[in-house]
Amino acid sequence: MRPVVRTRFAPSPTGDPHVGNIRTALFAWLFARHNSGSFILRIEDTDVARRVEGAVEALMGSLRWLGLDWDEGPDIGGDYGPYVQSERLGLYEEAARRLVEQGDAYYCYCSPERLEEIRAEQLRRKQPPGYDRQCRELSEEERKKKENEGITPVVRFKVPLEGQTRFSDVVWGEVKFENNTLDDLVLLKSDGYPTYNLANIVDDHKMEISHVIRGEEFISTTPHHVLLYKALGYEPPQFAHLPRLTGTDRSKLSKRHGAVSIGEFRKQGYLPEAMVNFLALLGWSLDDKTELMTRQELIASFTLERVKKTAASFNPEKLDWMNGVYIRSLAPEDFLQRSLQFLERDLPSEVMPPLSVDYIKQIMPLVQERVKTLADVPELTRFFFVDRLEYDTELLITKGMTVESTRHALGVARQRLAELPAFDAESLEEMLRPLAAEMELKTGQLFGTLRTAVTGQTAAPPLFQTMAVLGRETCLERIDRALDRL
Ligand code: GLU
Repeated sequence: MRPVVRTRFAPSPTGDPHVGNIRTALFAWLFARHNSGSFILRIEDTDVARRVEGAVEALMGSLRWLGLDWDEGPDIGGDYGPYVQSERLGLYEEAARRLVEQGDAYYCYCSPERLEEIRAEQLRRKQPPGYDRQCRELSEEERKKKENEGITPVVRFKVPLEGQTRFSDVVWGEVKFENNTLDDLVLLKSDGYPTYNLANIVDDHKMEISHVIRGEEFISTTPHHVLLYKALGYEPPQFAHLPRLTGTDRSKLSKRHGAVSIGEFRKQGYLPEAMVNFLALLGWSLDDKTELMTRQELIASFTLERVKKTAASFNPEKLDWMNGVYIRSLAPEDFLQRSLQFLERDLPSEVMPPLSVDYIKQIMPLVQERVKTLADVPELTRFFFVDRLEYDTELLITKGMTVESTRHALGVARQRLAELPAFDAESLEEMLRPLAAEMELKTGQLFGTLRTAVTGQTAAPPLFQTMAVLGRETCLERIDRALDRL
């Protein structure tokens, strides 16, 4: 029988989720789905000072938006709940007590000031930071004395001082650490809350997590975890540490590189399916060349063996390209539906909702091929919705034209447009192309002027279709205004 796969995403609710975290969630989710296993959402909120109001909702919102559904979690429960660490404090306390009783952990009474002094001294001497183990061998009597002084201790892990700790990582292979480089980490804080290290392993064990999939930055604490599993008599899970994310300049991916939270990408009009495809390729690939993969294809082919160790570079240009591909492949109706909220959000305030869906239906096909993100839609189409165009009059005068020749060309075009029997794209083109020749103008000269007059922009969707959608009345009115300006 194949062993049951249970993976988890265990974020700390400290703000709008970073793409790096969501990449981790995606890999854990893909692995669970590929193996018909379970994907668990667990909230690691034991760092009270770093908790951010609303962060859990933001996390869940981002996961839902990307379609990363969980089988057990704080909102839906499950057999291994509760799924929020602050609701499981008793379990960690019990584990910490057991470790102390067994002699694998000890009470430490050192004040924050003392710890700060040690740190400063180590920094001065260029030594690695770490606790100097003063409380590790306190006698019962010394301990009593400290207790009588009213000091609430923390519980520290008594790491072995000799030997090595090894673990095998699906991505990194055999990893080993010298025990004498490991610090006696705090397991339980004086406020009764566990640290990440304790809570994480207690929960991964109790929730029967089979594969711990997380960022490379956790490799250095994994030997502690392995030792803790052993001390508590737990079977450690399989570890898979995912490569770091960097910007294209190879430095750690941060705000400097642009948007880094999933919420921002969403606001900027990226499609969730493009985002999933893009994130899946940050550290994993099918064959080093396939770029476009649907969610189903990703699930079908995702294995941890193909996760790379080399840092994954986050290339926003590639994301833009990919998003454009996904946008172009949307059914027109779907593109319209998804664009609506961006139009409602970003069109100027004088454009009153509700927007006419019939009108938008005509506009959308003109821009679907041209936008990189949904947020480009309002920008590119605002002239369809506003009453008055604002533009620089100079833009009406195209290359090689003067105020007079422009006025003349626009005047003639206006008259012909008014007389044109049918105001559709085809008829417009059939009339306007020869008109340019008739006036001895290049088509670009006439069309450029008309484009500015009716859209206020020099770059816009195809002219004839645009004019047809705007309608005769609006086009004539806008040409009249352009003439007034000249
Ligand atoms: N709470 C940790 C984090 O925020 C989880 C790390 C892990 O997956 O073990 O990244």
